[in-house]
Amino acid sequence: MTGEPLVRTVLGDVSPAALGRTDAHDHLFFASRQLPGQELDDRAAAEAELRAFAAAGGRTVVQWTPFGLNRRTADLAELSRATGVALVAATGLHRAEHYPAELLDRVADRLAEVFVADLIAGTPAGDDPDGERSGPKAGLIKVAGAFHVVDRHAHWTMVAAAQAHHETGAPIAVHLELGTAAREVADLLCGELAVPPSRVILGHLNRNPDLRVLREVAATGVYLGFDGPSRANHATDWRLADLLLELSAAGHTGQLLLGGDTTTAAARLSSGGGPGIPYLLTTLRPRLAEALGEDVTDAMFVANPARAFATRWRR
Ligand SMILES: [Zn+2]
Repeated sequence: MTGEPLVRTVLGDVSPAALGRTDAHDHLFFASRQLPGQELDDRAAAEAELRAFAAAGGRTVVQWTPFGLNRRTADLAELSRATGVALVAATGLHRAEHYPAELLDRVADRLAEVFVADLIAGTPAGDDPDGERSGPKAGLIKVAGAFHVVDRHAHWTMVAAAQAHHETGAPIAVHLELGTAAREVADLLCGELAVPPSRVILGHLNRNPDLRVLREVAATGVYLGFDGPSRANHATDWRLADLLLELSAAGHTGQLLLGGDTTTAAARLSSGGGPGIPYLLTTLRPRLAEALGEDVTDAMFVANPARAFATRWRR
């Protein structure tokens, strides 16, 4: 362990105090074979979305797009310079169905190594694991659970993520499939794999608003990510404020994170049907401030992400 905790942005390591209002889980670029025709692959649209976010008071966006899904990290660095919004890029691996088998085969016996290289040597152009690492460094490791279980693929990626965490100090962010298997993931990462809970962020918990499970998971000390809204998960949107209120009242204010998780072109505000990244600050934030108060809301948008994404980098 060395030095102060820092956030590894695409423009370099910065003090957590520099983050400001943060979208803790979103995507400016993302392309998956699971969402054909819906790719986030338009730089001008990404820039428009970021400028609208900045105009609403936003200062930092954390992109959870992992390895091989069109991260475009070099573009993230240019967009950050152009808009003044700090951006954090991810390494890591999504669920298996997002990838051609050939790509998974190529990294099968060296996944942790690929994660570590992204975190300390920089990301390769075109996301080729053997390409020249001329892009900015990743600042977090994103992996994914399965529906209600940690399947073989998820277990493999979490073992690699934990190994990369132990080597670098990087935080681990987890896509929970439909918000499920939160306990199982927290138990694996923080139990057997010995990752400190303060370095683990669970995402998509809004999609499975089971308060009993959320309380149990919060008790482990991990960060709880509520990211949405989206057309796909609209059925749970209306529970958000009450869930946050319950968790805050139970003493977990310091673990709550909010994100937009824009994953398709249609969900952008500037060039699609919305609600897009700015919604988080233009609409959701004032509503949450009414329900939870300014202090709790500020903790969720500023202080918590500053702690969650800052780490004492070992390399
Ligand atoms: Zn996401």
